[in-house]
Amino acid sequence: MEYEKVLGFKSKERQVENLKLEGDVRVALIVPNDYIVASSGLAFYYVQKLLNHHPRIRCERFFYDESFSKYYSLETQTPLDEFPIWLFSVSFENDLLNLLDLLKKKGIPLLWKDREEHHPLVVAGGAVTYLNTEFLLPVADAVYYGELEKHLEEFSEALTGEKKEDILKALAEIPSMNVPSLGKKHSEIATGVIVDEFLPHAHIVSDAGVFLGKLLVELGRGCIRRCAFCIFGKNLKPARFVRPDRFESLVEEIPWKEYGLISATITDYPWLNELLDVVERHQLKISVSSLRLDRLSERLLKVLKESGQRSFTIAPEAGSQKIRDILKKDITDEQIEIALKMARNVGFDRIKMYFIYGLEEETEEDLRAFRKIGELALQMGYREVHMSFNPLIPKPGTDFEERRMEPVDVLREKEKFLKEYLKGFRVDFESIRESVIQYTIARASREEIVEWVKSFENKKRFRKMIFNEGRKRLC
Ligand code: SF4
Repeated sequence: MEYEKVLGFKSKERQVENLKLEGDVRVALIVPNDYIVASSGLAFYYVQKLLNHHPRIRCERFFYDESFSKYYSLETQTPLDEFPIWLFSVSFENDLLNLLDLLKKKGIPLLWKDREEHHPLVVAGGAVTYLNTEFLLPVADAVYYGELEKHLEEFSEALTGEKKEDILKALAEIPSMNVPSLGKKHSEIATGVIVDEFLPHAHIVSDAGVFLGKLLVELGRGCIRRCAFCIFGKNLKPARFVRPDRFESLVEEIPWKEYGLISATITDYPWLNELLDVVERHQLKISVSSLRLDRLSERLLKVLKESGQRSFTIAPEAGSQKIRDILKKDITDEQIEIALKMARNVGFDRIKMYFIYGLEEETEEDLRAFRKIGELALQMGYREVHMSFNPLIPKPGTDFEERRMEPVDVLREKEKFLKEYLKGFRVDFESIRESVIQYTIARASREEIVEWVKSFENKKRFRKMIFNEGRKRLC
């Protein structure tokens, strides 16, 4: 069953660039989330490509599935046990639960200090390393912070060491590496890599995931904005962008016509018109990871519509101007209205809007303001108005790091109110339970993680324990 499931996902993938799998050092790249989430992120492909540049490394991809016990690679269906190095790409705090579950199922001690030479080497990195990563340090043998390209050569070379000890010593030489067993802390979060030099892009297209059938290309890294709840606006500066001619040369090299363009906000891309020229010249279809509603152009919206995008997606974040200002979203009611009109003009009749709720300053009036935006969309002729809500999770490293998440009972009351008040609209809410778990893990100290992990029996119990712990702290 497990084997067939992996083969089933493999059959949804098409290779558009060849990758040699010939090295003698086997590295398992594991995204500790399901295939749909894993295949929607560039790291799932790009990190494999980067590592396979080294002639001795043979990197294969794995994803997490709660029902799996063997874990087979996507490329050759080789069991995970045959890989001596396990490299986890962690994007979300809650991935920790999957990571622990996977280690437990494979009989690997959960804390690095309990592992021995014959156990695989567990290395972690990924988007989450821009936030608090105390939670990875008791578990992983080594943690890489930030952009892998910056120290790619040293990193790849280190992985080819004979023994685990040699590998860890070599990894410890890298400034963005934390190797707790050697007492080596990282001195930098690797960033500032010139994106152009690498033009990060996938070599595989998946017919599953968010970017169905699109080849992922990263056109920008970092963000020029300053939203108070977001780590990218604060830590990933300056923003860097790939020039459109570089993108065009990729399009000319690769026989593919559909691209998923990844950038914090494509509307802040400095050469947007030139990029759209490339898209039109080569008759490409594009999807974008995100756009800002205050920088839209009819031309971009038309291209998205002609590319087959069915819904216009934006993130006003708050219903009222007061809350939007606290979030430092820098978007006005008038700009929202203009954006809705513009998308209607080019023919969109479905809209999806992302909102944040659960700020201590929020009044009933602020909650009621969400409905005003929905009604405005209906008045303009949108057939379907989809409102998606996330509770505010104040993260360390953001402007909101001194804040606390609202207590669970308060959030549940607000959710109940909004569900009732927004009847007639399609609404969904991110799970409060999962959000509290995320908040708790993001703020946990290393000592707390060690205590919690020691009591790990299975994912279900662990999840319940972390939620109860978080809930207590928010009261
Ligand atoms: S929320 Fe979006 S626009 Fe705001 S800082 Fe983060 S990435 Fe940039």
